[in-house]
Amino acid sequence: GKVLVSGANGYIAMWTVKMLLERGYRVRGTVRSENKGRFLNDYFAKLGHGDAFEFAIVEDFLEDDAFDEVIKDVDAIAHMASPVHSKPSDPDEILKPAVRGTIGILKSALKNASRVRRIVVTSSTATIITPDLTAARVFSEEDWNEACPKEVKELGAKARGVSIYRASKVLAERAAWDFYKQHKSQIQWDLTVINPPFVFGPPIHDVRSPKSLNLSLLAWYQRLVSESPEEKDELSHWSCGWVDVRDTALAHVMALEKEAAGGERIMTPSGRCFWQEWINAVNSLKQIHSLHTNLLSDAPNFFMSTLFLARWTSLRKSEFLGSNSRLWRRRPRIRWRTSRGAGGR
Ligand code: NDP
Repeated sequence: GKVLVSGANGYIAMWTVKMLLERGYRVRGTVRSENKGRFLNDYFAKLGHGDAFEFAIVEDFLEDDAFDEVIKDVDAIAHMASPVHSKPSDPDEILKPAVRGTIGILKSALKNASRVRRIVVTSSTATIITPDLTAARVFSEEDWNEACPKEVKELGAKARGVSIYRASKVLAERAAWDFYKQHKSQIQWDLTVINPPFVFGPPIHDVRSPKSLNLSLLAWYQRLVSESPEEKDELSHWSCGWVDVRDTALAHVMALEKEAAGGERIMTPSGRCFWQEWINAVNSLKQIHSLHTNLLSDAPNFFMSTLFLARWTSLRKSEFLGSNSRLWRRRPRIRWRTSRGAGGR
């Protein structure tokens, strides 16, 4: 079968493409420029998937019919492209492409995709969890984050950037379900939505400097490298749901393969973590990894992926962190632990 993956050069998407290719699927990845496509071509050709991977340029998915051509001959779609940042100058900068990209691809599938049987949309736990809670609460796939769209509606450009990003995910996911329900009788495909929490783990996408890291790895990088006192405090107090990027990719692949995933929202957290845990792991493992560089596998659990990430950070620090690498020189700081203990929120 052939799968269309939108935003194929992204952090999560590239792992998803890799996994699809490894399972014998053919993949067409959409990107916004020739350079990004070539990066993917080279990467997957080196892994021996040169024949099974191709890229297509969809420069602007605000244009009507942007996906009409690229979905014609595919059997399934993973829509993963969406703006992932939280510093817009205007909410529409994030909201519009998130919603219209999602609707655009579904519209094209309605018109032009006679072979498509399943569409998977990458959403987020941000569409489920209400932020800023003062008391513990359990969330499930039944819940919707109403707070962020409300904040954006009321405050417009004055809403917090992170709320705008979260609202974009809520509005895009809602739009996808609405579209699906509205057209159910006309379509031969169904919809699955994947809702990951914070995604961490080794990147294979084109990262040239810390600035070009995707948002979740940038947060990881900033917490482990930054020195500001507030963030130090956050290291042991702030916890989040997280999932390894490889498990996230696998969730997308399985959502495409499993009949039973149709019509479901699927949250994919593997647990929660405190920033301090990464720091401890990096500190305790950085000697080990130089002795056992081959020990590392893709085992999808916290320990192994921490190890993997630790190795990655270390091995690539010369090119990635540059000569100003601070993470490894500042051992006392990254051993820091609060006396107040772990709180979490
Ligand atoms: P990346 O930033 O690595 O990838 C985002 C992808 O979307 C890139 O291919 C990017 O293209 C594309 N994109 C962004 N804005 C636009 C736009 N306006 N028009 C067309 N394409 C656009 O992010 P991730 O891999 O982390 O995120 C992928 C998906 O997963 C997103 O939908 C995100 O919301 C979701 N997600 C991510 C989580 C995480 O922790 N990383 C957690 C939960 C959900 P380009 O490179 O050209 O900018």
